[in-house]
Amino acid sequence: MIVACPTCSRPVEWSEVSPWRPFCSERCKLLDLGAWATEKHAIPDDGSGELIDGESQDGEELP
Ligand SMILES: [Zn+2]
Repeated sequence: MIVACPTCSRPVEWSEVSPWRPFCSERCKLLDLGAWATEKHAIPDDGSGELIDGESQDGEELP
């Protein structure tokens, strides 16, 4: 049985000879995991609730 490496699409034999299956190599396995981790950390932070618009209340009440 031959499968395609998820990272580089090279044919990989699904057997004992391919310890990194479905990847063709350890490098492709790490790249795929790295891409997943990078994608996870790349979620944009909208920063809502972090910024104060500079409008401060000085606490002085006018009569
Ligand atoms: Zn590969």
